Amino acid sequence: MAGGGQQATPRVRAVPVTREESGAAPARPAAALRVVHEPDHGVDLAAAEQAAGAFLRALGVELGSESLADTPRRMAHAYAELFTPRPFDLTTFPNDEGYDELVLARSIPVRSVCEHHLLPFVGVAHVGYLPGARILGLSKLARIVEHFACRPQVQERLTKQVADWLADQLSPKGVGVVIEAEHTCMTLRGVQAVGASTVTSTLLGTLREDARSRQEFFALTGVNA
Ligand SMILES: [Zn+2]
Repeated sequence: MAGGGQQATPRVRAVPVTREESGAAPARPAAALRVVHEPDHGVDLAAAEQAAGAFLRALGVELGSESLADTPRRMAHAYAELFTPRPFDLTTFPNDEGYDELVLARSIPVRSVCEHHLLPFVGVAHVGYLPGARILGLSKLARIVEHFACRPQVQERLTKQVADWLADQLSPKGVGVVIEAEHTCMTLRGVQAVGASTVTSTLLGTLREDARSRQEFFALTGVNA
């Protein structure tokens, strides 16, 4: 397992959001948390630009041409963007119908950066849960993936962070997360294993303990397990 050491759980600011409801108020309102990624240190784009210029020059790249002159600035902005997830509201609703089957979002795009080489890895995530007392706005599963993907990562940790966070926030009966991704540090350099993809999974609760639930989850994700 590619470790990456002990990284502190990313700090997340979760603030209750007041819902402005127009018309008749619902019997039981939706609840939402504003989710904002707070990096340990602020982003200093000027310092990043300077460092990117020094980095490129150290690799023998001349920055004199018109085309390359602005590259350090573009690099700084590109990486800042890759490391900054968009804030979102985690909206949950009471599970009034008592829905107790698997809820699964398949093929959520994943783009992240491996923290060992700082090269991108891209792929898809399949995220599912067995609802408990509350359910989630469906689009939020993709936002949760983005939230944890937009930072230097290892795929194993990303998979577990999405699953653990969903379990914490929603207290579902089970959670399953599968990520399939191609790592450019493996396909463009090193072993140059073009086309190789890496699959990671985290199962919690019923999806981990109950063989039938687990099989159903993997069958629906299309991943052979
Ligand atoms: Zn790597």
